[in-house]
Amino acid sequence: MVQNSRNLSSPIRRGMVFIISAPSGAGKTTIRSLLLRRNPRLAFSVSHTTRPPRPGEKNGKDYHFVSREEFLKLIRRRFFLEWAEIHGELYGTGRPALEKLLSSGKDVLVEVDFQGQAEIKKFLPEAVSIFIIPESPAELKKRLRKRGTEKKTELLARLEWAKVELSKAKYYDYLVVNKERKIISAVHQIEAIITAEHCREKKVRGLISFQS
Ligand code: 5GP
Repeated sequence: MVQNSRNLSSPIRRGMVFIISAPSGAGKTTIRSLLLRRNPRLAFSVSHTTRPPRPGEKNGKDYHFVSREEFLKLIRRRFFLEWAEIHGELYGTGRPALEKLLSSGKDVLVEVDFQGQAEIKKFLPEAVSIFIIPESPAELKKRLRKRGTEKKTELLARLEWAKVELSKAKYYDYLVVNKERKIISAVHQIEAIITAEHCREKKVRGLISFQS
């Protein structure tokens, strides 16, 4: 006999959190746009930051760009699930919007650095973390230079920071290598992880149990 210990046909199941981290220049933004375009059940948690927008970035879509004063006010109100200071700027994941998306049944991509990953895992151990690495350090340098949005000193700081970030890759659940000109292959790998984690979730939650 097949027994449903939970309501499988429930119209709204809570979504899952997928944490994505990558050093600057690893191609994470392109991967994110492709994932969102191809998977309507997937949403993006838009972080707050005090860093100024780069050309082409839109407020509310890429980040919520706020002043330092505003950010500090939000910290005091316990608005953030986690926040961190990176390259002298503040970045944080807002709790209410994330909760709303998860309750609506969407899977949510949360893009944070390794500090954010560790914090989120503390509160949401079931969150799945994915680290994207570039094919080689040379590739990373090339992409950052091509982006051309950072001043030389900032660029060097980001490259140094990338080394620290890469050393944290071992703490993630999954590693995805983003190969130049094969970005779609990284997208496919992340989609496969999402599918696999949903299959695992069914087992862990005991959605279906067989009884003799
Ligand atoms: P960028 O300035 O290049 O957009 O991001 C710099 C770093 O901040 C990246 O590693 C990015 O993943 C991270 N980041 C973006 N949003 C958040 C956030 O809300 N929390 C944390 N901890 N890191 C974030």
